[in-house]
Amino acid sequence: MEVHSHYSLKHFNTFGFDVHAGLFAAASTTDELLSLLSDKRYRALPLLILGGGSNMVFCDDFNGLVIHPQMTGIEKQAEDAEFVYLRVGAGVVWDDFVSYAVQRNWGGAENLSLIPGRVGAAPVQNIGAYGVEAKAIIHQIECILIDTGERRLFSNAECAFGYRDSAFKHAWKNKTIITHVVFRLRKKPVLQTHYGHIAAELKNYPDISLQTIRQAIITIRRTKLPDPAETGNAGSFFKNPVVPNETAARIAAIDPRLTTYPVDDTSVKLPAGRLIELAGWKGRRIGNVGVHTQQALILVHYGGATGHDIMALAAAIQQSVYNKFGVHLEREVNVIVNPPNN
Ligand SMILES: Cc1cc2nc3c(=O)[nH]c(=O)nc-3n(C[C@H](O)[C@H](O)[C@H](O)COP(=O)(O)OP(=O)(O)OC[C@H]3O[C@@H](n4cnc5c(N)ncnc54)[C@H](O)[C@@H]3O)c2cc1C
Repeated sequence: MEVHSHYSLKHFNTFGFDVHAGLFAAASTTDELLSLLSDKRYRALPLLILGGGSNMVFCDDFNGLVIHPQMTGIEKQAEDAEFVYLRVGAGVVWDDFVSYAVQRNWGGAENLSLIPGRVGAAPVQNIGAYGVEAKAIIHQIECILIDTGERRLFSNAECAFGYRDSAFKHAWKNKTIITHVVFRLRKKPVLQTHYGHIAAELKNYPDISLQTIRQAIITIRRTKLPDPAETGNAGSFFKNPVVPNETAARIAAIDPRLTTYPVDDTSVKLPAGRLIELAGWKGRRIGNVGVHTQQALILVHYGGATGHDIMALAAAIQQSVYNKFGVHLEREVNVIVNPPNN
């Protein structure tokens, strides 16, 4: 395995920022990963695990070792009357895994079609879309502990999954590298078509199946979301804030156009994109960065800007939403800045 110096990350971040890694290594096997981690030359360096870079903002070069897990392979690990268990390498492109499952009529991943990135990153923020989160299909996670090189299995419960959240963002942050994920998929799929525009889009198809749900979601996503190959972006930049009912009532008094979504008896979820839109940011461009014209939750890079420009735009949006609604927007993306901020 080659370790590259001053390696361009331009194609390893979907914003397309022109930054470099001090050192970069793609590890194709767990053994390669272990040999990198035990190499004394690299032990003192800052470490970054990088999948497809579709949830990253690089403000600066990363002055350390970037490890790109590239474990491939999708294998059936077990099967019972109800479920099939698939062990999938961290380096597999997420949507290739979804396609593989859908082709075999194994249900659970179809609503997560076309989310960019690699399988290894999916548990980190518990990716979600169209009413489904990855936690619903994650059975087990295989990791390497960075400090000791020990192999460790995490059960679904140990991952402490939440909304765009998991233990890999907290207690296990910078401590583990996910090498494989074991998914549990249904042999008799339960179709989820209630969310967003899926039902309406499905009217264009002859039947409702895993295949057509996948196709419908791909069509909807292609219409609504900017393709990073054309316009740099990292999907949703902020999380949807969850606030107490009283806060929601106060906001409704400020602007009744905001729709809220119940979470439980005491709290609701606010659509961050709509907050940004109502604060007047949708479609605005500042220099070479801006807010997407169709989905205000997505910040875009038109070329020639830096991660600092995106972060300045994000800060201005956060301030403006706070001034108007008294709500803080929390970032969903990971930020790399020198000196490191976390
Ligand atoms: C157009 C677009 C649409 C998107 N839509 C959605 C969506 O609908 N729903 C959603 O949830 N997200 C969405 N995203 C965000 C993104 O696709 C997901 O967060 C994805 O899981 C990131 O995968 P990645 O391989 O690119 O991870 P990266 O961006 O490379 O890394 C993300 C984080 O995971 C860590 N990490 C990566 N791999 C590993 C590993 N093997 N072990 C340990 N840590 C690791 C990194 O250190 C980093 O902290 C979208 C992004 C884009 C650009």
